[in-house]
Amino acid sequence: MEVTGAFLRIGHKFRPGSAIVPTSITVHNTGNPRSTAANERAWLDNPRNLSSGNFASWHYVLDETSIIQAIPDFELAYHAEAGNTTSIGIEVCESGNQHVVWRRAVLFVVSLLRRHGFDAERVRTHRDWTGKDCPRLILPEWTRFMRDLRLELGEHPAFTNVRIEMSGETREFQGIMVAGRSFVPTRPLLEQLGYTVNWDENTASVKIARDAVRTSLMPELWARGN
Ligand SMILES: [Zn+2]
Repeated sequence: MEVTGAFLRIGHKFRPGSAIVPTSITVHNTGNPRSTAANERAWLDNPRNLSSGNFASWHYVLDETSIIQAIPDFELAYHAEAGNTTSIGIEVCESGNQHVVWRRAVLFVVSLLRRHGFDAERVRTHRDWTGKDCPRLILPEWTRFMRDLRLELGEHPAFTNVRIEMSGETREFQGIMVAGRSFVPTRPLLEQLGYTVNWDENTASVKIARDAVRTSLMPELWARGN
């Protein structure tokens, strides 16, 4: 993906020039539904921001058409407080087609991970560092973001057969291995146990019913196999 270098000069208020050894990548949203990558870059040179007492910068900003770098990967930027000395900050714009922006953000984070020899475990949110609600648009779907990222990175979960003994009978289910744990999907497991499992589109939830027992689970919920 093409990155436009529009570096701040060393000594610029927002580029102190301090060397860092990056060990993670931090994802942000800009917090502004209208600003583009170019607007965000202009913000760093806005005299009002230069004279304020606030320090805010980033390594990269990405929108639906462009990616701009303002600070080299191995230098400090002001984006994540305690994370500043070890993390590369990417601002994801809230303007434009967010499906496109999402996809570009996934691909760009993957390209950065590859460049630095990192796996997906190195990805952070701004919230991880400070508790701030950032990246505010991506956080509610952070699991999906990381899943997309891992798929792109080639970290597919390994399919595995999971054997579960139920009332003395051993059944085998196709599940997946994630970080040393096996998971099986709820439907075949619960159907074996005599439940009916249905997907309710209106509420985007899985409905499980058996006699008087009725409950509702989020679709992401998987039963632990072992
Ligand atoms: Zn942030």
